[in-house]
Amino acid sequence: MKNKFDFNEFDSIYEYKEKDLGAVYTEKETVFKVWAPAAGSVTVNLYQTGSDAEEGARLLERLPMKQGERGVWQASSSGCKKGCYYTYTVCNNGIAKETADVYGRACGINGVRSMVVDLRETDPKGFRENKEWLLKRHELSKCPVIYELHIKDFSSGGDSGISEKNRGKYLAFTEPDTTLSKKGEIPTCISYLKDLGITHVHLLPFFDYGSVDEGGDLSSQFNWGYDPVHYNVPEGSYSLDPYHGEVRIRECKQMIQALHEAGIAVVMDVVYNHTYSLESVFENTVPGYYYRKYADGKYSNGSLCGNDTASEHAMYRRYMADSVCYWAEEYQIDGFRFDLMGLHDTETMNCIRAELDKLPGGEDILMYGEPWSGDYSPMKKGSIPAVKENTDKLHERIAVFCDGTRDAIKGSVFIADDAGFVNTGVGESLSIDGAEASRVLDEAVKDSVCAWCRREQKEITPKNPGQIISYVSAHDNYTLWDKLKYTLPKNAGKKKNQIDFSKKCSEVMRQNKLAAGIYFTCLGTVFFQAGEEFGRTKLGISDSYNAPPYINALSWSRSSEFRELVEFYKGLIAFRKSFKTFYERAAQNVKISFENTNMTGLIAFYMTKTDSEKALFVIYNKNKEKAILPLPEGCFRVICDGEIVETDYDKCKEISGEVLVKNEAVMIFAKL
Ligand code: CA
Repeated sequence: MKNKFDFNEFDSIYEYKEKDLGAVYTEKETVFKVWAPAAGSVTVNLYQTGSDAEEGARLLERLPMKQGERGVWQASSSGCKKGCYYTYTVCNNGIAKETADVYGRACGINGVRSMVVDLRETDPKGFRENKEWLLKRHELSKCPVIYELHIKDFSSGGDSGISEKNRGKYLAFTEPDTTLSKKGEIPTCISYLKDLGITHVHLLPFFDYGSVDEGGDLSSQFNWGYDPVHYNVPEGSYSLDPYHGEVRIRECKQMIQALHEAGIAVVMDVVYNHTYSLESVFENTVPGYYYRKYADGKYSNGSLCGNDTASEHAMYRRYMADSVCYWAEEYQIDGFRFDLMGLHDTETMNCIRAELDKLPGGEDILMYGEPWSGDYSPMKKGSIPAVKENTDKLHERIAVFCDGTRDAIKGSVFIADDAGFVNTGVGESLSIDGAEASRVLDEAVKDSVCAWCRREQKEITPKNPGQIISYVSAHDNYTLWDKLKYTLPKNAGKKKNQIDFSKKCSEVMRQNKLAAGIYFTCLGTVFFQAGEEFGRTKLGISDSYNAPPYINALSWSRSSEFRELVEFYKGLIAFRKSFKTFYERAAQNVKISFENTNMTGLIAFYMTKTDSEKALFVIYNKNKEKAILPLPEGCFRVICDGEIVETDYDKCKEISGEVLVKNEAVMIFAKL
């Protein structure tokens, strides 16, 4: 490699465009191909098992590989059958490393060795014959309500109603009609999600990750999974058998199939911006190529994990696009959420969008990501980072999480006691005080309603409302409930252990409903953390990435205890799906006029669509006092009176003239 820090020339010589890398199995033979342009020699090692600790472990064969065009090494074996495990010994600069396959599609325990797999044998019955699914996906993509969920959290609680063996596993999703503590009354898991009405489940990482020992005691281990090892293989700890590579693939597909059968689309959380460690298949195979570095050779640390990948390098960009398309095609994934998307360049993101769009139903596959990074990362000169200031350089069907909306509604995620609109903050995070701060916060909420398309913004420049993810909670930081509890005036100055986070509280309940009412009536795409709808608490722990399962698991008992809040969300979801104006992609087709209410913390707006008779009048009142406001002309149905959301529109009360606005409440009136 002539120039270590600018791979333009290297890429022009070695970029390999075929899609046949990895182990390709046929009945006749298995063909191995690996891209390793800098290697002096490569050998493929075939094994009976995924690790030496297993019964029957032995080396079957070592095959020298031949170097072909563009740095691709190749070997084939007629003796290597499906289920055979393999590694490569790659010799770079005289240093030999044994490594699993960058392009592996199956692996053994803890991803130590890759595995040859006949993918067709891993399809559950009917998995590929579900032609109607693309129609359903199309329908769901028009009005996404995204529910962010961790596979283990979903069912590991003892009250989940799931069989003991499937708790915390892929297969928990395949158990229909489960009930709270198996008592036959209150629905849990899939049954609950169907009733709630969400359109997309966004699953935290389930590619193979490194922080959980798949062969260890899984009852005490937990991790969110933002530490990728094998991007194209499902994680083993969610499988009933992480030793046999085909099992986790089949079970993962069964999970997706079960969600699809429930009418729910599946978004995969992908983390291409860094790997679990530098001791990775990438670094072992082509040292120095896949990672971003400073001119002095130091590895970039924008992910705060010490090993940012380099999306701007041709073969990593290609890898990301191929990997995403592989999950979309092979696993029928309906959307992708990109972790720390700000570490990728806009060209890579747009390239992935273009590749997905070529697939059947591909345009309906969602793409969104975090438009920020943990820290600075030295991207190659000329590349544009996919951060929020560059939202307008992303394809119009790539959306970003909107921290502006999130923090305006309930306060900064970085300052625990900072409050936002609903918890009567005056915008401490805005570095100004008093009435002016309150007014600025009101303006930020109005911007949120318009998905930041209302006026010229310096900080975020969406092409259309569809590029904005409106939300207030995700796996990172406090749950909404905990944040609202923490910012209660009576808890000011208290230490976390002095606050009873889990206890029900009418003030927090009002604020929670107001918060939900706000982002559910914003333009854009709504998203929320699983359990937000039943006051999920992590007992004041803001970063629970490796906290014990009992902190992270969804409490299904709480879903019953907080049924009133669940019903409120359920109503908002149904309403949002019926009032499609929220998803209007072109901002000019929606007219939003804000009323002059003469009071800070009291926002009212009238929303109409150019080609529809439907209209909406919405009021947010954060104040402790009630208020009286005139309604626009005509008769309105009361969809939400601040306490309940009416889902049977024929039963809605009718109102005209003026309205008595409740304190700390959202009120929604509609002409339907
Ligand atoms: Ca793993």
